[in-house]
Amino acid sequence: TRPLEGKTALVTGGSRGVGAGIVARLAADGAKVAFTYARSADRAKAVAAEAVAAGGIAHPIHADSRHEQDIEAAVARTADRFGGLDILVNNAGVGSFAPITDLKIDEIDAMLTINVRSTIIAIREALAHMDDGGRIINIGSINADRTPFPGQSVYALTKGAVSSLTRGLAHELAPRGITVNNVQPGPIDTEANPADGPFATALLGVMATDRFGTAAEIGAFVSYLAGPDAAYITGSSLNVDGGFTA
Ligand code: NDP
Repeated sequence: TRPLEGKTALVTGGSRGVGAGIVARLAADGAKVAFTYARSADRAKAVAAEAVAAGGIAHPIHADSRHEQDIEAAVARTADRFGGLDILVNNAGVGSFAPITDLKIDEIDAMLTINVRSTIIAIREALAHMDDGGRIINIGSINADRTPFPGQSVYALTKGAVSSLTRGLAHELAPRGITVNNVQPGPIDTEANPADGPFATALLGVMATDRFGTAAEIGAFVSYLAGPDAAYITGSSLNVDGGFTA
């Protein structure tokens, strides 16, 4: 049997990039997966179709992480459809990279709302449906621990908040056997951070490896954390960063 057979999952922001890699892997490993998207409806359909073609179950839900009602509805729909929720992955996120004096209020609000506030709300809602042994996995960023370039301060702040939230929740949820962890990717090849983009040379220059990571590599680690072998890991921020912090 597949490692996540019988489990149900919700992934936020699964229409592209890292989130799509997580959806694909959780579904391939046997979980029934629902995932949200905000704008990329066609891409979301394609992600779901690919998972189904590979023998899995994946179901897209339109839910904008800026609106708490959308998040609440996405959690409720997932739990209704699948009869519960075992695994929550908070992946939806945005970054605006500029010196603090140049950041627009809309950009600041988007980072705080999507990266931090929506994560809190999704966890709060999911816990109403999660049985003992559940899994909460946040996608933070290695920038929480290292920000070697200017222009990343507020983005790093939001990911530092996710790291602190993870630590605090570990104590609240351990009595229920629910683990909560924070995966901190280094540079991953996505539309938000293309391997051939303007920052690539600088990023590779401070890393141990000579390449960006892939969404599939993050998906594989998330699937491990979601599985039974990871029951002793909680409250941790875990780097998958190609040696960005080495
Ligand atoms: P992308 O921009 O490639 O994809 C972002 C995903 O989030 C899309 O599926 C998008 O859906 C969704 N999303 C964005 N805004 C919203 C919203 N308001 N409501 C719901 N969904 C939303 O980003 P990445 O895949 O690169 O990043 C994913 C996560 O990984 C983020 O949390 C990011 O901070 C983190 N990360 C990424 C790194 C990298 O190098 N790529 C490094 C470290 C961390 P849609 O298109 O439908 O709006």
